[in-house]
Parts: sequence; C-alpha cells; structure tokens
Amino acid sequence: AAKAEGRRTVRLFEPTMDAALQARRALEADLRAAVAAGALDVHYQPILSVRSLAVTGCEALLRWHHPERGFVSPAEFVPVAEEAGLIGQIGEWVLRTACREAAGWPEPLRIAVNLSPVQFRNPGLALGVAAALAATGLPAHRLELEITETVLLSENAANIAMLHALRDLGVRIAIDDFGTGYSSLSYLRAFPFDKIKIDRSFTRALGLDGHSTAIVRAVIELGASLGITTVAEGVETQEQFLHLRAGPCDEVQGFLFGRPVPAAELRRLLATCAGSAAASAAGSATGS
Ligand code: C2E
Ligand code: MG
Ligand code: MG
Ligand code: MG
Repeated sequence: AAKAEGRRTVRLFEPTMDAALQARRALEADLRAAVAAGALDVHYQPILSVRSLAVTGCEALLRWHHPERGFVSPAEFVPVAEEAGLIGQIGEWVLRTACREAAGWPEPLRIAVNLSPVQFRNPGLALGVAAALAATGLPAHRLELEITETVLLSENAANIAMLHALRDLGVRIAIDDFGTGYSSLSYLRAFPFDKIKIDRSFTRALGLDGHSTAIVRAVIELGASLGITTVAEGVETQEQFLHLRAGPCDEVQGFLFGRPVPAAELRRLLATCAGSAAASAAGSATGS
C-alpha cells in the first residue's frame, strides 16, 4: 500500500515539477540571450558615512530588464546563472563594468561588487580581479568584494587561501548579509575581514524587536573592537537610522538615502554632492 501511495504521490507531483523546471529552463534561455545581447545592466546604490552623511562609495547591483516579464530580481536570476554556468562570465562583466565606472568617481569613493560562491571557487578569481583593476585603472584599495557567508560554509584551507590572495591584491573584503549564516562568528576568527554588512532583516527589526536591536548593537561593538567597519543595509526609516547612529554603526545603505540608480544618474548625484561640499567648504573658508 505504501508503495502504491508513494507511486501515486510521485505522479501527483510530477506535473508541478515539470512546470517549475520548464519555467527555469525558459528563464535560463532568456538569460543566455540577454548575456549574448549585452542586455544586462549595473545599477549603483550609495553607501554613506553615519557621522558625516557623505557618500563613501556604492554597491554595484545587477539589473535585468526582461523583454516580457520586466524587472527580474537578481535574487531570482543569479541562482539560475550559477546553475547554468553563466555566472563566471556575468560576474567578470559586472566587475569590469563597475571598476571602469568607479575609476571615474572622485578619489576616495569605493565600489562594492558582489561575488557569487561559484566565482569564488574558481582558482583563477584573483588573477581575474587583478586583470580588471589593471584594465580599468581603478586603485585596488577602492574595490571592495562582498562575499556571503555561504562561501565560507566549508571553512576549508582553499577558501581562506583565496581570501588572502584577494586581500594581497590590496582590495577590501566584506562579509555580506552578516547574521544570516550558520556560524558568523567563526568566520570572523578564520579571516580578518575589512567590513561587516549587517543583514537587512536585522535593520528592519530595529526598534520593533528588542532582541534584533540588541544583536545589532552587539555586532557594531564587535566590529569596533575588532577594527572592522560596520555597515547596515536596508535602512528605510529615520528611526532605524537613529538606532544605528547611537550604535554607532560606521556606514548606512538603504532607500532612506538612495535607491540603486543607473551610472549616469549616480554621476549627476555625485556632482551635486561634490558641488554642495565644495560650496560649504568655501563658505567656512570665507567665514560665512
Ligand atoms: P545584497 O548584496 O545583499 O544587496 C542588497 C539588496 O538590498 C539589493 O537588492 C538592494 O537593492 C536591496 N536594498 C538596498 N536598500 C534597500 C532598502 O532600503 N529596502 C529594501 N527593501 N531593499 C534594499 P537587489 O539589487 O535585488 O539584489 C539582491 C541580491 O542579488 C543581492 O543582495 C546579491 O546577493 C545579489 N546580487 C545583486 N547583484 C549581484 C552581482 O552582480 N553578482 C552577484 N553574484 N550577486 C548579485
Ligand atoms: Mg551585497
Ligand atoms: Mg547584503
Ligand atoms: Mg542581502
């Protein structure tokens, strides 16, 4: 009976699985076409200093405008790209595009680029990053690579060696989505990261959920005592910002300060910021 039931269950679920698989195959084919046609884009979201509210850099975020479906989130298509063997090519393109763009920004501004765990497992990654820096002329210290905790799930020697190889280039290494992995603290012991990005799920709970608020405070203090810069992602409200400033968290990123925008729009935004900074510097110089 169990066997018959099992067989029936399998039959019941088969059509659904087929549909999901077909949808994924279709998305994969469309993504392949988009990559070939150069139809992907990179948007830039500002990251600000909590103390001065000056822009310290931006995060590069992949964008795909699907001809029929419209905006497809990278959270949906990056896993497809990883499975289809496309993420190496896409990631390389994002890196080059973002470095070239950032090379034109005013000097201290940094660019943060997300790395897929699949890219991370490619032994040629460090060479590829070095080549992107050389080709675009971006100084290494202005590039920050964001790595999610899943990369380190197996905290093996090869992973740690790759982190050191990247760091030896002079780039900065950030842990993305901090707090969502299984053993965030052991990663901090395994490698001296430059930056901790506190996950949006914690930011969202600031002031609403006492436990999350306490955890954010503790992470900020941990960062401070380890000499690691802390940044909170997904800041949407003034109340969240006030909690982070009290922390004090070093940097903030979120819709409250700016959404991801196309390169040209970001350049305009930076010109306006630089203009107002220059104006206020001139104002204080003349004593007005
Ligand atoms: P992430 O690296 O954690 O990026 C931050 C995400 O939070 C972005 O979503 C950004 O648009 C969103 N965000 C920023 N501020 C706010 C806010 O105030 N409220 C809300 N609700 N959301 C905010 P996005 O662009 O959809 O990207 C999702 C994820 O896709 C990224 O998460 C990253 O894991 C991945 N991804 C994006 N671009 C790339 C890429 O070039 N390469 C790789 N491997 N992954 C990427
Ligand atoms: Mg990120
Ligand atoms: Mg993140
Ligand atoms: Mg995230």
